[in-house]
Amino acid sequence: MVYVRGRGIYANFFDIGDGYTHWGFFLEIAQQIGEIGGLQPHKTAIPRKELAKLPDKPRSIIEATPEEQIISRFSYDIDPLPRLYSGQILLIGDAAHAKSPTRARGMTAGFEDAFALSQHLASTTRVENALASFQAERLPIVHEYQRTSRDVSMKIGRLRKKASV
Ligand SMILES: Cc1cc2nc3c(=O)[nH]c(=O)nc-3n(C[C@H](O)[C@H](O)[C@H](O)COP(=O)(O)OP(=O)(O)OC[C@H]3O[C@@H](n4cnc5c(N)ncnc54)[C@H](O)[C@@H]3O)c2cc1C
Repeated sequence: MVYVRGRGIYANFFDIGDGYTHWGFFLEIAQQIGEIGGLQPHKTAIPRKELAKLPDKPRSIIEATPEEQIISRFSYDIDPLPRLYSGQILLIGDAAHAKSPTRARGMTAGFEDAFALSQHLASTTRVENALASFQAERLPIVHEYQRTSRDVSMKIGRLRKKASV
């Protein structure tokens, strides 16, 4: 697994076996009119100027990938929620704390939620108590993930986007 960060970009590369590599290239862009809230940008090609911020080897992997094998999507973060449950309805994973990918905590945070929830449920016979103690444990943690992920995004992307390498 290899991670690369630059001004306004973030990339990761995974050896997924059988000679295949999975990569992600994250780019901070301002959304155009008609794109806001949408799934996919109007222009899906990766700008050469942004690709040029990568070292030669990871860049050549992306450049060698056939266009039809590339999926391009917007990724949204959400503001920290004041609570994670209401009655017996609980949010975990991205529904509770979707965040910018720059700290690569999204999947991890979902697994942590599931593990913590199973422990809190096992420790009491009252679901309300389990949800309250789950929230007390997890809310500060996921808020920190959301805040720091957004901070990193702002630093490497939104605030410093104009700088070129
Ligand atoms: C390109 C990319 C790269 C990422 N890289 C990393 C990484 O390196 N490390 C990391 O930790 N995280 C990473 N993440 C984040 C990670 O993928 C997510 O945080 C994680 O998948 C969230 O899991 P989830 O189960 O909460 O939500 P999701 O994976 O979004 O699952 C929600 C599911 O609910 C389904 N659904 C939605 N609405 C309905 C409905 N009305 N009825 C029925 N089903 C519905 C959806 O189809 C989906 O299958 C990355 C995300 C992206 C997009």
